Amino acid sequence: MSKRAYNFNAGPAALPLEVLERAQAEFVDFRGTGMSIMEMSHRGKVYEEVHNEAESRLLSLLGDVKGYKVLFLQGGASTQFAMLPMNLLSQGKVASYVHSGSWADKAIKEAKLIGETQIVASSEANKFMSIPDLSGIQLSDQSAYLHVTSNETIEGTQYQVYPDTGNIPLIADMSSDILSREIDLNQFGLIYAGAQKNLGPSGVTIVIAREDLISESPKNIPTMMRYNTHLSNNSLYNTPPAFSVYMVNEVLKWIGEQGSLAGLEKINRKKAQLIYDTIDNSGGFYRGPVEAGSRSIMNVTFRLTNEELEKQFIKESEQEGFIGLKGHRSVGGLRASIYNAVPYESCKALTDFMLHFQKSNG
Ligand code: PMP
Repeated sequence: MSKRAYNFNAGPAALPLEVLERAQAEFVDFRGTGMSIMEMSHRGKVYEEVHNEAESRLLSLLGDVKGYKVLFLQGGASTQFAMLPMNLLSQGKVASYVHSGSWADKAIKEAKLIGETQIVASSEANKFMSIPDLSGIQLSDQSAYLHVTSNETIEGTQYQVYPDTGNIPLIADMSSDILSREIDLNQFGLIYAGAQKNLGPSGVTIVIAREDLISESPKNIPTMMRYNTHLSNNSLYNTPPAFSVYMVNEVLKWIGEQGSLAGLEKINRKKAQLIYDTIDNSGGFYRGPVEAGSRSIMNVTFRLTNEELEKQFIKESEQEGFIGLKGHRSVGGLRASIYNAVPYESCKALTDFMLHFQKSNG
């Protein structure tokens, strides 16, 4: 077997080895059809079975809550930044956003192109090193929805609790933490995520929404941008990204095999804790810039005392087989993305390396 890297990429990111091997085994001849899943009609029974299985697995992992539907779309989470207000922000209403960092910023900018948008809370004052406090949040009756970015992939912050929005739909961009921990789907009107972190390869975007919210879209928006086009066609209005959906189904199967989401969350917390402890116990050699109560269990960001040392850390870590530890170019520093498929052993190897690096350079 070929050697697998210690993969800390932010996305596309590590996939479970078991899933890759299963996909490899059925790559050329998919379940006796004599062709790969990429070579068959998306209207055929074989593909449709996979497609429907992916939807039911996803809903079942989220607790089989009644009234929710899954859409498999394209264009990435970035397209959802626009599609969401196009569908849900009607005339006379205002779209409410929490500004928590780089991805929230992109979502807000797109919403502003569509209609009236307001920022109801922001952590800009502390450079987005925390999730804004939303405990006393007041939303106007005219609010079409409140949008939050569940996990800021670049800064490394994550909601620990979601706000209670009463009758106003809560919408969450969960691109970088979907299915990494238990959530109560009932709290949300709609969640969306690009698949390429916790769910599979890039190419498919998942929308999970209360059916009543997406069953009627304004008539003046293009067909492909309307949620109800995809809802009423079981996400088969046009050709779906068949291979990506198949891979998502396999990842969902793998998640199911790990036991419950609660169990997976426990492992994810243990992985993150190991790295955060190494940072916190380093006597200032490593520094976690994110406020303790907002730390992400998916993207652990940290700094060294100067940029030279950070460069050296990245170089030496790469030589030891650790990939993807360089922080996002917009913020610098270091980042370990530890999505579901990154094993505890990779995190342990990373902290061993961190201790070793500190010993040689501290
Ligand atoms: N939202 C978040 C939180 C993300 O991390 C990303 C991708 N890194 C996006 C949105 C954009 O996703 P995509 O590249 O699928 O458009």
